[in-house]
Amino acid sequence: LADPRVLPEELLASPLALAHAGEQAEGLTLPAQLYGVARRNSVGVDISCLAQRAPLEAAVALAQVPAVPLADAAAVDAAMARLQTGFEGWNARPLAERAAVLERAADALEARLPEFCGLLVTEARKTLGDCVAEVREAVDFCRYYAQQARTRLAEQELPGPTGERNTLRLHGRGVFVCISPWNFPLAIFAGQVVAALVAGNSVAAKPAEQTPGVALRMVELLHQAGVPADALVLLHGPGETVGAALVADARTAGVCFTGSTAVARHINRALAAKDGPIVPLIAETGGLNAMLVDSTALPEQVVDAVVQSAFRSAGQRCSALRLLCVHESIADGLLEMLAGAMRELRVGDPARLDTDVGPLIDAEAHAGIAAQVQRLRGEARLIAETPAPQALPDTQTPVAFELQHIGQLSSEIFGPVLHVVRWGGVPEDVVRQVNALGYGLTFGLQTRIDSRAERLAQQARIGNVYVNRNTIGAVVGVQPFGGEGLSGTGPKAGGPHYLYRFCAEQTLTVNT
Ligand code: GLU
Repeated sequence: LADPRVLPEELLASPLALAHAGEQAEGLTLPAQLYGVARRNSVGVDISCLAQRAPLEAAVALAQVPAVPLADAAAVDAAMARLQTGFEGWNARPLAERAAVLERAADALEARLPEFCGLLVTEARKTLGDCVAEVREAVDFCRYYAQQARTRLAEQELPGPTGERNTLRLHGRGVFVCISPWNFPLAIFAGQVVAALVAGNSVAAKPAEQTPGVALRMVELLHQAGVPADALVLLHGPGETVGAALVADARTAGVCFTGSTAVARHINRALAAKDGPIVPLIAETGGLNAMLVDSTALPEQVVDAVVQSAFRSAGQRCSALRLLCVHESIADGLLEMLAGAMRELRVGDPARLDTDVGPLIDAEAHAGIAAQVQRLRGEARLIAETPAPQALPDTQTPVAFELQHIGQLSSEIFGPVLHVVRWGGVPEDVVRQVNALGYGLTFGLQTRIDSRAERLAQQARIGNVYVNRNTIGAVVGVQPFGGEGLSGTGPKAGGPHYLYRFCAEQTLTVNT
């Protein structure tokens, strides 16, 4: 297997089938150039976790999702009072101490990886491969923000001509409200919370309604690692009541939200309508993500990238590919290959390591997506559909449709549904149309003309541009993640500027 060119054609056509080949021959190292994702943290099927298959599958079988009580208005009020007091003590702790707490949490989480995978599979219905990547991503967030805090949030002397001693210092803003989604119920939940904490804030954490159990276990872990009980409180409940009460509360000093664009807008309006201090909002929202394929692209690489980007995690990532724009000269051959790869995907039980696509988060999400697919069957040409072995609950099998033009694309479908359009003319026109969609989260470019990739990346008003690879699984610290326009406010999660937005600044000038 050392040379990818000697791999049988059917494996080349289906990168996930390639992963299965690796699984059958456990311990085998796959060629990194074909399946580079296997080496990365938080991306794709992680071949290295196959060695842990038995403990992982045992942990899933044992997983017990804890019941989490629902918060009411009185609980929100009591929590905010407690967190306001807790802020003073936590913010006064030396920066190094807060960073050390995050590092202890990272170690504990890493040691409990199988248990957290079990919780994630059971509560969030994520495939086991995705769960391993997610726990590792959460560990990375803790370690990265600890390290960033030590270097970036440290006090700075600013020498200058005033003849005084000038110092710039950063501190927490107060009680930060963190509202997180169900699609990364551990990584995004933990990423928001630990960033806010290490900056010196106390945190009211409101996880998605569907996934409070994973969040509860993470909060307990953070308390055990040294976060005081009055610096971090979990509040479980609907966004419409608990989330709204937190946003409206006069003690809220900042809000960090990941979820839909519509809800972010709602929060923004609610914050703007309040009297009192102006409260900053960090919002990471949806995407209508495209990939442009020109006539020089490598078809095997494109198919690998498309399958991963559109169907991994059942398409329930905001980074997922929704619109594939293929040059007309190669479209027929490429779409045939894509259809072949889609037929190879394994749809089924998320608890198995060899499942590519599991169920959607819940019946409601499934009903919405099924209705959209039904509409597309009437309006667009079906390219391919992954066969399901049997009727599976709340499952949408991967499906791809061809549209006549980009304008037919209406809104983000948060599932394994891919739209394809053909293009002729110049690629700049395609990028212009993609920019006009208004979202700006991820964008894929498949071309072997380097200068073109550089030019189009510059033209794209998009936060994460990926060239000749998939568009998901940004790696903490090296691929800072987040968009612009309808996709969010920034700063990028897992990037060097993230922590600043959680801080207030003080300039201290002393006449010496
Ligand atoms: N950070 C994830 C990725 O790069 C996506 C996060 C999300 O879906 O919100 O795939």
